[in-house]
Amino acid sequence: MSNGKINVTADNIFPIIKKFLYSDHEIFLRELISNAVDATLKLKTLTRIGESKTELGDLTIEIKIDKEAKTLTVSDKGLGMSTEEVDKYINQLAFSGAEEFVKKYEDKADGAAIIGHFGLGFYSAFMVAKKVEILSQSHNAEAKAAHWECEGDPEFTLEEAEKAERGTDIILHINDDSLEFLEEARIRELLNKYCKFLPVPIKFGTKEITETLGEGEDAKEEKKVVDDIINNPVPAWTKAPGDLKDEDYKTFYRELYPHTFEEPLFHIHLNVDYPFDLTGILFFPRVKPNMELNRNKIQLYQNQVFVTDNLEGIVPDFLTMLHGVIDSKDIPLNVSRSYLQSDGAVKKISSHITKKVADKLDELFKNDRKDFESKWDDIKVIIEYGMLSDEKFFARAQKFALYQNVKGEYFTFEEYKEKVKDLQTDKDGKLVMLYAAHKDGQHSFIKRAHDKGYDVLLMDSPIVSHLMQRLETSNENLTFARVDSDSIDKLIKKDEDQPSKLTEEQINTLKPIIEGSVDKAKFTVMMENLSSDESPFIITVPEFMRRMKEMSMTGGGMMGM
Ligand code: ADP
Ligand code: MG
Repeated sequence: MSNGKINVTADNIFPIIKKFLYSDHEIFLRELISNAVDATLKLKTLTRIGESKTELGDLTIEIKIDKEAKTLTVSDKGLGMSTEEVDKYINQLAFSGAEEFVKKYEDKADGAAIIGHFGLGFYSAFMVAKKVEILSQSHNAEAKAAHWECEGDPEFTLEEAEKAERGTDIILHINDDSLEFLEEARIRELLNKYCKFLPVPIKFGTKEITETLGEGEDAKEEKKVVDDIINNPVPAWTKAPGDLKDEDYKTFYRELYPHTFEEPLFHIHLNVDYPFDLTGILFFPRVKPNMELNRNKIQLYQNQVFVTDNLEGIVPDFLTMLHGVIDSKDIPLNVSRSYLQSDGAVKKISSHITKKVADKLDELFKNDRKDFESKWDDIKVIIEYGMLSDEKFFARAQKFALYQNVKGEYFTFEEYKEKVKDLQTDKDGKLVMLYAAHKDGQHSFIKRAHDKGYDVLLMDSPIVSHLMQRLETSNENLTFARVDSDSIDKLIKKDEDQPSKLTEEQINTLKPIIEGSVDKAKFTVMMENLSSDESPFIITVPEFMRRMKEMSMTGGGMMGM
């Protein structure tokens, strides 16, 4: 019907498309398949509201590779396009979108950094194809089928054609640099990454399954070849929480991470429609202190289309330790990370998620405290990290964050203050919280504190010195002291102290001798009021000295996390 030239201002946009998206060519498949999904969903809407008379029938999208012809085809049975529509949507609108993109990023030095988080819509096909064909039959039976062809330059042909079935075939003639996209394994990998939860069934080849026919003795196994549908069009997060059982969440977890054997501890089902649209399921994994943290397991989707699994800077850092899925219509698909990071909607979503996580933890704590306590060791790293990095979360966590003493009892911070307030104050009336970093190494000091009737907390997570400092900041009249520091003897004990095993005279002779053998600037020698039989004297490091050292070891911040 028409041969033409796309009206471009840029001389030739195609080399630029290829150059700019160089590092992330694979995105083209996501773009073409999401167009196919859009076309299918639009058709469903049109028939529902009576605008289209077509029989929906089977709507499966199909991906085919033909190694000999060197083509990759994406076929849908969606609403299709007439020649006029191809001209409007492909030649004019989509092209101007591509042009705008290229203009904007043409002279950005950090091209590579932006790339990978962009899709370029339909024209991204030219990253991997030397020629692209569109063959489309509109749902409107009166329209003739359209055939469009373009060889990666501003020239194209558009003519009427024959196509039996409704819908669109996008045929990519793969260029010689991109032959990997003719490999079944490579395509399967991409389908798994981008399309696993798209809302329309996607077929890629066939597979053999074994079916059991009949029952009991007569049962027969039969092999059968069926379509290989690579996606689950109705993933758990799109369902109502009320329709899901605990087991369903676990099944979904395995679907998300087929190579993980660990089970999650619990889940949080996010379901918001106001003031923004957000669904998702987050899982709390087991995180042992000192365990290597596995970040970036949360996957971000937009209407079931995978966007990214790198949420750094998009959700608060501590949440990147959780697992699961977040899906929002309000998250723009074809934009850069820096855009996502500064986007208002994304910011709101992020603070909402933080709140939801706190609410869930609070609920678990209230509903079954024993159970919550039993999980605490596996979740505390994430929570403590959250408390340190997010002020609001710190405030919310006061209700459920637990502190364990060396005897294995759990307290909230308020409960613990209450427990020790009458016994563990110094001469200025300051509350002194004694703690040990580990039970075994500090055994004799713990025993000594217990003998005096004090309680000792077990503070053994990797960021504990920061957490204690944070707690001291928000509780003015309170200080932490490690059980082997000198502070313990500055405590005012109400009961009579136990008599020392050493006489006054012995102490006076011994002390200078011991002190003479250690560096006084670094250590304190304690001999008075010893109650333990095992240790006639103790050499300790003053609390402030030790903490200075610890803080400098963890870099004074959370960088080491
Ligand atoms: P976007 O999807 O953001 O609109 P694209 O460049 O991906 O931009 O696609 C441009 C337009 O081409 C779409 O809006 C749609 O109108 C049309 N289109 C692309 N693929 C198909 C398809 N498979 N079926 C019907 N229309 C399509
Ligand atoms: Mg698109």
